[in-house]
Amino acid sequence: MPIKKELLAILACPQCKSSVELYKNTWLICSNCSRKYPIKNNIPVLLIEVGDQFKEVSQEQLPDLEANESSR
Ligand SMILES: [Zn+2]
Repeated sequence: MPIKKELLAILACPQCKSSVELYKNTWLICSNCSRKYPIKNNIPVLLIEVGDQFKEVSQEQLPDLEANESSR
């Protein structure tokens, strides 16, 4: 089950509190600081230290996570 829009609307980057964008159903990308947060088992991992690891990774190079059934 993909992340719902309603849920997405209330999620925010834990670092800068900006809104995040869904990418490939498995990543949340902060539009402000470019930190990227994985979604694992439909649960967004919104941890600063995790987002930091992908800050310099362009979104095209993000690893493919275990995709949800209906993604792609
Ligand atoms: Zn941010």
